[in-house]
Amino acid sequence: QDDPIPAITFPNGIEVPALGQGTWNMGERASEAEREIASLKAGIELGMTLIDTAEMYGEGDSERIVGRAIKGRRDGLFIVTKVYPWNASRRGTIEACERSLSRLGIDQIDLYLLHWRGEHPLADTVEAFEDLKDAGKIGAWGVSNFDIGDIEELLAVPGGRHVAANQVLYNLARRGIEYDLLPWCQEHGVPVMAYSPIEQGRILHNPELIRIAKANQATPAQIALAFLLERDGVIAIPKTSNADRAAENRDCVSLDISDEDWVALDAAFPPPTRKSALEML
Ligand code: NDP
Repeated sequence: QDDPIPAITFPNGIEVPALGQGTWNMGERASEAEREIASLKAGIELGMTLIDTAEMYGEGDSERIVGRAIKGRRDGLFIVTKVYPWNASRRGTIEACERSLSRLGIDQIDLYLLHWRGEHPLADTVEAFEDLKDAGKIGAWGVSNFDIGDIEELLAVPGGRHVAANQVLYNLARRGIEYDLLPWCQEHGVPVMAYSPIEQGRILHNPELIRIAKANQATPAQIALAFLLERDGVIAIPKTSNADRAAENRDCVSLDISDEDWVALDAAFPPPTRKSALEML
């Protein structure tokens, strides 16, 4: 039997698996749609029931793919989508949410994120998020690509303390958030959603990662994901359109990586020693 995926608890008490599924680049080619849907469904069967999308991805077509993958099986899923910053006005947020709900074919988005900071005042976006929550259109709201200073500004606006998650770039090769942002989120019980958890495939060629993977009878992707799952309050959302890779990624939870190998990973991918600005992809 597969080892269970560790659970992460959101501030509203809802538990989600620490390993979910990303969907950037899905919905862009009609010829790929069936593969993408099959991969998402396979991932759900394996317990990766948190699915991350955005109105940006495929200009709505990624949300449509997710909608097709989850049709008729809403229960037990945790659907995350995001509003474009230029839509995140008081009224624009509500309208963007309605469009996302319709493309996803659901009545409620579990977590709705501001994709990155833009021109609209945070107070307006938060007010719209709170209204959407009161109306039951979203379960919770959060932000993405927010550095520590952005979070501080957010906390100062009315309702800002209800922020339920921060989705940021985090993987072995991008450890900057370990300096300040990750500890802050852990102390305040705000889960971090680690995007591009395998650096869009680029770190998989790292010789040291390959060596450690071989020593653990694992793949480099599995080691990279296990690294994230080892951290408190971190949810990794790898994207794959390949059902076999979904199973491979899911199996990272069964690894038992030695202290020696963690030390070797730290040497190959050093943790930060000073503050650096949050990176974005
Ligand atoms: P990932 O780090 O998840 O890498 C995805 C790439 O890796 C794809 O090309 C995929 O190809 C490949 N891949 C997946 N699994 C494996 C494996 N086991 N072995 C080898 N290759 C593999 O990058 P993403 O940028 O997609 O990040 C994940 C998700 O995070 C996004 O899909 C999106 O949902 C979210 N995101 C959010 C951002 C934000 O600003 N909030 C920014 C960027 C991403 P294939 O599909 O062919 O398997």
